[in-house]
Amino acid sequence: MEFKKLAEILSEIESTTKRLEIVDLISKFFKTVGDEIKYTVYLLQGKVAPDYEGIELGIAEKQVIKVLSVITGKKEDFINQLLIKVGDLGQIAEDLLKEKKQVSLFSEELTITKVYNNLLELANKSGSGSQLRKQQLLQDLLQNADPLEAKYIVRIVLERLRIGLADMTIVDAIAIAFGKKEDADIVERAYNIHPDLAEIAYIAYTRGIDGIKSIKITPGIPVRSMLAERLPSLEEILQKMGGVCSMEYKYDGLRLQAHKIGDKIKLFSRRLEDVTEQFPEIANEIREFVKAETAILDGEAVPYNLDTGEMLPFQAVSQRRGRKYDVYEMAERIPVVVFFFDIIYKNGIDLTMRPYPDRKVELKNSIKEGSLRIRLAKNLIVSRTDDAEKFFNEALEAGCEGIVAKNINENSIYRAGAREYLWIKYKRDYQLEMQDTVDLVVVGAFSGQGRRAGSYGALLMAVYSRQDGTFKTVCKLGSGFTDEQLDNLPRLFQKYILKERDPRVESQMIPDFWIEPHFVLEVKGAEITLSPIHTCCYGLIKEGSGLAIRFPRFTGRWREDKSPEDATTEDEILEMYHSQKKKIIQDNPG
Ligand code: AMP
Repeated sequence: MEFKKLAEILSEIESTTKRLEIVDLISKFFKTVGDEIKYTVYLLQGKVAPDYEGIELGIAEKQVIKVLSVITGKKEDFINQLLIKVGDLGQIAEDLLKEKKQVSLFSEELTITKVYNNLLELANKSGSGSQLRKQQLLQDLLQNADPLEAKYIVRIVLERLRIGLADMTIVDAIAIAFGKKEDADIVERAYNIHPDLAEIAYIAYTRGIDGIKSIKITPGIPVRSMLAERLPSLEEILQKMGGVCSMEYKYDGLRLQAHKIGDKIKLFSRRLEDVTEQFPEIANEIREFVKAETAILDGEAVPYNLDTGEMLPFQAVSQRRGRKYDVYEMAERIPVVVFFFDIIYKNGIDLTMRPYPDRKVELKNSIKEGSLRIRLAKNLIVSRTDDAEKFFNEALEAGCEGIVAKNINENSIYRAGAREYLWIKYKRDYQLEMQDTVDLVVVGAFSGQGRRAGSYGALLMAVYSRQDGTFKTVCKLGSGFTDEQLDNLPRLFQKYILKERDPRVESQMIPDFWIEPHFVLEVKGAEITLSPIHTCCYGLIKEGSGLAIRFPRFTGRWREDKSPEDATTEDEILEMYHSQKKKIIQDNPG
């Protein structure tokens, strides 16, 4: 199929914020693309392979400018000037090609397959001479592209497609295209255990929804992590769990999913990036101490002083190195211990449908004793609040953040990708005024004044809505930043500044700069209040009002381990608002 059709779809998605319209649009398109479906889905997502394969397109703006210069006859300097003004090379490519008008005699029509193949080859090129070859591959596409096609090709090679298409929207579209709307749950389950939507779409196209049902967990391919809900007191947690549960230390580090495939080890982060190379010592010990031919284990990697046996607070580690964005690199330099708390798969058997106590036994049986760096998460079966309190305090003393309570009844399966009450977290901060820190997404920035001139005065922060994949604003965040951090923000955000609101963002406030949802910051506030301007939980408590966080403060912790979709959800804020009210009533009876 012509790539032009896909470019038109991309353009339509970009111009609407209505999720249902987008689902309708792409599901119809999916039905027409035939066996190019796989490439279509990757390109819609602005990539050439699933994230866990870690394939990057890796072309610099400078090179794209060179190619544009060759094709349009404009000087590189001129294009550079445009870039400063317009900020989006995709847009510039479109405008320049429109101006150019005359069509090259030899131009051939671009197909989806051609565009995908060139981009894939471009992504796989490295080493000497690769820059030139990358430029040729791009040039080969752009000289055959019409203006709209050029816009999206350029954005895709720069890994900045930014059309705001949520994964769940694609899930729904696959279900509708190759089955029926109600099959979305089946597609989602497949996505949770095999997070490659292009592959899933291809299976749906060739083998229908039954094909999707047969997708299995595969060692080497990450499973989306199961997540924990939260409740404001240990008592409520016990009640919710039916009077008894297993409590585990909540280690404060990085989620790590370890895959053993014979002697081959793969480690994935919570965002499903392959981080194997950053933890060679962990990989070695898994090879040596995990007693299984194939296995997938779930745990938390924590910086650790092996001499004193002390856990180091993760926060302290990320602050020590000043700022920014490579926690894994930091973890590499500091000894790390992994505390495993679950097992998902062993020797060819999917364990996700087994109850938690069974998995726990399986986990224990799978790890040989004597490893320094791989251990079992500490846990205790608890049925009384005072025992729970005691265990919680013990966890804090050991340097943990709190506890995660785990359901132990027969339905306590491993729910990949879900945040439900089978696991409930309870952190130290619940005891403070606003019960907990929250992880919020930056969606906009306001220019600073006075001492902050040249940087930002405040950021517009949002929560994630799991229902519709949108980001809804919940506060303006201006405190808690060091001067150095403030100075760095514009540089850090530069690549993510958008000309217009990202279609996934719902906001009544108009910031000076819109920022693509990407950065997640940990924030502590004083309380949650009703607000007429923020869109989080809008109209849920009171007509014309949303919920906002009062006196928010950046804790200094960048949650780079979380994707924007892992941020605190709208539902969690609602829950926190209710429990805060309950607490006020309890503290001031009558
Ligand atoms: P949060 O990041 O606050 O949403 O808390 C959930 C995270 O706690 C998980 O994604 C894990 O990375 C981490 N965690 C630490 N210890 C445990 C544990 N014993 N069970 C489950 N998750 C844990």
